[in-house]
Amino acid sequence: MCGIIGAATQRDVTPILMEGLQRLEYRGYDSAGIAVQSWQNNDINRVRRLGKVGDLGSALDEAEMRGNTGIAHTRWATHGEPSERNAHPHMSQDQVCLVHNGIIENHESIRAELIELGYELVSETDSETIVHLVHHHLSTGCDLIQAVAAT
Ligand code: GLU
Repeated sequence: MCGIIGAATQRDVTPILMEGLQRLEYRGYDSAGIAVQSWQNNDINRVRRLGKVGDLGSALDEAEMRGNTGIAHTRWATHGEPSERNAHPHMSQDQVCLVHNGIIENHESIRAELIELGYELVSETDSETIVHLVHHHLSTGCDLIQAVAAT
């Protein structure tokens, strides 16, 4: 179980995501994270922290985290210890960013395929495999909907 929130807004999305995480904290409380596409340059800025949503809130650099689109997560670990490295959102090549609820049963074989394709997996989670697979399908010419469906 975990808490997931995503939003696309016309105002700054970060306070909306943080309020959502506070409300969802009971669904996962070992770590929390947020990723927002920056107003300034469209880069995806991400902050993750071991512990409570409050700890994440104190770590945010408000200037950097301003944007209109973002996702956030409170984790209840199933694969990989509670740690900042294993906290969501997970990213691939600084381009695709993902939060996930649940378990990827075949993550070990997908992990092996991804390594074969040249991806470096930096967490111990099953979830990280999804974000690289989406990136891989995008790199073959799929649009986002097609890449997610193929994944
Ligand atoms: N299986 C994922 C992990 O361990 C997601 C856990 C969750 O649903 O919070 O990171």
